[in-house]
Amino acid sequence: MPQIQHIIDVLERIAPPALQEDYDNSGLLVGEPHAEIQKVLVSLDVTEEVVEEARASGAGLIVSHHPIVFKPLRSLTGKDQVERTVMAALRAGIGLYAIHTNLDNVAHGVNAMMCRKLGLEGMQVLRPVSGTLAKVATFVPHAHAEAVREAMFLAGGGRIGHYDECSFNQMGEGTFRAGNGAQPFVGQLGERHHEDETRVEMVVERWNVRKVAAAMKSAHPYEEVAHDVVMLDNAHPTAGSGGIGTFPEPVEWSDFVGRVKSAFNAPIVRHTNPPKKAIRRVALCGGTGSFLLSDAMRAGADVFLSSDFKYHEFFGTEGRITIADIGHAEAESGISQWLVDQLADFKLGFPNFAVLLSEVRTNPIYVS
Ligand SMILES: [Zn+2]
Repeated sequence: MPQIQHIIDVLERIAPPALQEDYDNSGLLVGEPHAEIQKVLVSLDVTEEVVEEARASGAGLIVSHHPIVFKPLRSLTGKDQVERTVMAALRAGIGLYAIHTNLDNVAHGVNAMMCRKLGLEGMQVLRPVSGTLAKVATFVPHAHAEAVREAMFLAGGGRIGHYDECSFNQMGEGTFRAGNGAQPFVGQLGERHHEDETRVEMVVERWNVRKVAAAMKSAHPYEEVAHDVVMLDNAHPTAGSGGIGTFPEPVEWSDFVGRVKSAFNAPIVRHTNPPKKAIRRVALCGGTGSFLLSDAMRAGADVFLSSDFKYHEFFGTEGRITIADIGHAEAESGISQWLVDQLADFKLGFPNFAVLLSEVRTNPIYVS
């Protein structure tokens, strides 16, 4: 039977926890990683009703986009909805896992889902993050370079955007002298040795550096593995906030509104002045997105589709971009089903394991 940790491993491959925002609280919030579970329930939010749904259906873990616990809990007395929900989960022995801004911040996550629903193509990250990449380089005898490269690739090194197995390899000469106690792979103790070596270098996401370095060392023939780990300031091509995509054919405003309403099951769209010409480029952000408005304008979007815009944030964009605001839950409405689909592959390893989509309406906002 799978353990909660097995599900966490899958989810963290989809969205590395290191990509969550500082204010966030993604990860395992309730439950023991080694608890065995037969079913997972996926929901946008966790409420007492969702916990009850999990209990009734025999799910041992709820995976939600929004974390139930944001601020530290100082007590568990049931005085508010958060405490009551956590207590219900604890009582029922149900784990709670949140995959929030780390899923917003991977290019294949929330924003890609929104682009697909609207029919936008060629999505790019609107505000890529920097400070998430490193370069790992090592020096290895030519005959062993392929094995070391392969081990580093398998551990996750050398991925850039839609490419993998990216590396640079330069031939040169290394020197070393083995001292007392050494057991050199080549060369004699106490003598300077010259060896033809390949410098193998590749980009590695920072959260993968330790794993890639370990794989590199285990495939490397030397006793002491000379290597460099250098932090990069480069922007990550497939991680960051928001997305921007293009319609294959220009779309008239009224058609766009219709598409948005049906794609996201959104009862209303609040918006600024519609654009004068047909829409080609659309920037978007699931959840609260007003912080990306200037990025959307700089990127040349005709429309910025997001949610939670405040009154004053609608001002000052006339003729430059049209803001379209749908509800927060509506914008992110497709993410639970997407997560169910992602976990479906995992099911193959455990024939009796099931992933369920919550049927509880958690959106507290109604439109009359
Ligand atoms: Zn959200």
